[in-house]
Formats: sequence, structure tokens, C-alpha cells
Amino acid sequence: MDNSKNIIEKILKKPLLEQKNEGINRTQPAPKAGICPICDDRGIILQGDTAVPCSCMEQRKIDNSFKNARLSQELKNCSFAKFNLEYYQTPSEADHYTNAQKALKAAQEFFKNVQVNPHEVGLLFSGPVGSGKTFLAASIANALLAKQYRILFLIVPDLLDELRASYSAKNETNESDLLDVARTVPVLVLDDLGAHNYTEWSRNRIYSILNYRINEQLPTIITTNLDFNEIEQHLGERTCSRLLQMCRIVKLSTPQDIRMQKYVKREKLK
Ligand SMILES: [Zn+2]
Repeated sequence: MDNSKNIIEKILKKPLLEQKNEGINRTQPAPKAGICPICDDRGIILQGDTAVPCSCMEQRKIDNSFKNARLSQELKNCSFAKFNLEYYQTPSEADHYTNAQKALKAAQEFFKNVQVNPHEVGLLFSGPVGSGKTFLAASIANALLAKQYRILFLIVPDLLDELRASYSAKNETNESDLLDVARTVPVLVLDDLGAHNYTEWSRNRIYSILNYRINEQLPTIITTNLDFNEIEQHLGERTCSRLLQMCRIVKLSTPQDIRMQKYVKREKLK
């Protein structure tokens, strides 16, 4: 009688989805959002008689390393299918629409290519506030998470706060742990690399993350409302040049802030 197997089977009350290492059996009903379709959030799966950690545990470790790394409920809803090109239509200017089409295509291509080539070049979404940059970055993140990819989604001001807190707590292992996760995660999203109050210290931290990732050829998705002159001004020349090396620049613009357009649409319906 194999005791350990019995114990494991008690933990795994329900029969497991038939699954292989490469991922989900697609004939199963769609999993509930946020619940691992492979292990049903148990964290372990059976391989023959042995219990092994599920691939989602790696992602949980990444999420748990940062307080704010999880995608917010709003961002979890972002998907390529929901990217609405209507917001980019204007009778006078066709550029907004063309840019948005190109941006969506670039995002979808990145998603597709990175699954074949883990060293795919990253993307830098650049455009004003409310032009859909974060939406596309979150859509990539969600699509990859659904494919069991390990990703880290960080909002830059939160990242800096957290690094600062771990640093000032004189707990340098903790700080280097956080930096290590950001440096080594297969896909990193840095949302809102904007005009924050960067100190020399925070500039160095961002550079060290990007520099590591470029050396290891790990893709990074960045959103920013700064142009390249401004990035250079705020983050320095070497970070700016790293970004050019590691990312394709994707421009987004809108006739009007999409949040405002959504607001007007909603209020009109009332
Ligand atoms: Zn799992």
C-alpha cells in the first residue's frame, strides 16, 4: 500500500484534467478566471505516482514576490478581441486609426512569436494618456498567462516604491530578490515608464533590470507617455539606448482620451 499516494489522492479530491506538460487540454470547459486550469489551484499535479508542483506555482512565486504585481481586475479584462478600433476613428485624421491597427497587430505578433522564440524583441508602446497602451500590454500579459507563460506585470511607480521600501528596510537580500525576479522573468511588462521623480538610485535600478534583460535577450514590454527625448531626460542616455536596442517602438494616438470617450458613451446611454 502506497501511503504517500493515498495522501496525495486525498488532497486531490477531484479527478485531474487530463493534461500533458505542454499545457491545457483544450476540450475542457473554459476555466474560471484566475484559477489554474491544470491543477484547479491545488498547486500540485500527479505524474504517475508522484506529486509534482504545477507549472502555475512558478507564476505564483513571481506574483507573490511583489505586492502589486498582480494584474488589477480591470486589466484582467483586457484582450486583443476587446481592443476597440472605433475609439481611433476620426473623419479628419486617419493616422490614429492606422497606428492603432499597427499596434494591435504588433501586440498579437509578439504574443505569437514569443511562444516560438523566447528571445523575441520586445515592444515599447508610446503615446499620450488614455491611448490604449496599457490595454495592449495587459492583453499580451493575459494571453500569455492563459498559455501558462511566466510573466511579471509591474507599474513602474509601484516597482520603485517597493524597491525603495525593501532597500530602506536594510534588507538587501529582499531588494536583490525583487530585482532578480524582474531581471529573469521570461516576459516583463513595465507599465507607465513616465515622468516620475527618478532619483539616481531609481534610475540605476531600472537600468540594471533592462541591462540584464538585454544581455540575456529576454523580452520586455514597456508603456510610456514620454517621447525619446523625454525618456533620455528622465532616465538618462544609457537607459534610453538600451530601450531602443531591446524594443520595437509602437505609437498610439487618439482623437480624444479613450477614458473620456467611454465616459461620454456611458453617460449618453443614461
Ligand atoms: Zn496549477
